[in-house]
Amino acid sequence: MPTISKSPWMMHYDGSSCNGCDIEVLACLTPLYDIERFGVINTGDPRQADILLITGGVNYHNESVVKQIYEQMPTPKVVVAVGICACSGGVFKDCYNIKGGVDTTIPVDIYVPGCAARPESIIDGVLQAVELLARKQTEAESATAAEGEAQ
Ligand code: SF4
Repeated sequence: MPTISKSPWMMHYDGSSCNGCDIEVLACLTPLYDIERFGVINTGDPRQADILLITGGVNYHNESVVKQIYEQMPTPKVVVAVGICACSGGVFKDCYNIKGGVDTTIPVDIYVPGCAARPESIIDGVLQAVELLARKQTEAESATAAEGEAQ
């Protein structure tokens, strides 16, 4: 269980899923699983999001949307691919309009397999993301401090 000093904001985007994984992500937000107890807050605005959860693969139609969401997020950021479709294209991999998993379009930090991914696995992936985000923030602060000393 990571130690966090801030509450990371998390955004969910549905790429080309069958909605199975989306239902499991929603389950994580219900009182039964209550992912927000770990300090994570759900947002619909990429400009406020530190963590991006993507379900489903990327298709040729939404490829630019996925890129845009990623670019709008502040740095540092962490991307979590939820479900086998997001990890590799899954059952839709050979469809005419599917480009592939999320990492065909933007960098992915954490892969949560499963069809559908279970809420416990999604929560585990988000906690890994929280830990990684904290590490990236520390590295960015150290780099800024080193730059300041060099000047
Ligand atoms: S991994 Fe399974 S449940 Fe999730 S979007 Fe793909 S087909 Fe649907």
